[in-house]
Amino acid sequence: MDDILWAPWRLAYIAENERERQERSARDEQNRVEVRPDGDPGCFLCQAVADPERKRRLVIGRSENTIALLNKFPYNNGHLLLAPLRHVGRLDRLSETEQAELTRELNRLVIRLEEKMRPHGFNIGLNLGHAAGAGLPGHLHWHIVPRWNGDTNFMTSIASTKVIPQALEALWEILAEPS
Ligand SMILES: [Zn+2]
Repeated sequence: MDDILWAPWRLAYIAENERERQERSARDEQNRVEVRPDGDPGCFLCQAVADPERKRRLVIGRSENTIALLNKFPYNNGHLLLAPLRHVGRLDRLSETEQAELTRELNRLVIRLEEKMRPHGFNIGLNLGHAAGAGLPGHLHWHIVPRWNGDTNFMTSIASTKVIPQALEALWEILAEPS
């Protein structure tokens, strides 16, 4: 079980066929917004940071230096991503303020998930670099994955099943903080 822990959400990419992938990139292209001067226009986190329309980016919360959103390719129900607003890919590029804020927000998100979804546990992790499975190595992001007793079978099935966008929107309604 542990050895597959940080790979399964990537299966959602694999499950997406070529036509779906093209449709998604066309949609992403259409929704593209101008990123901050220090951002990367091709980075979905920088796009989410710059876009005032939180729902279409599945952004559930924001603090002065961080952003939190639902993972479009969840490993489990309620799978969140937490990132600094700045496009930095290394831990040593974070300021002390950012580090402290990320830790504080991580705490807040765990509490929020506990209140709204009643998980029995969490996997929380950071993939640094392509070799470690980071889909987006240029912009640090923590994965927060709620876990329920006996959810292993569910995860096996969700990994090869398409996540329905409506399900993500419904979850967004539950988890989004008032802006
Ligand atoms: Zn970025």
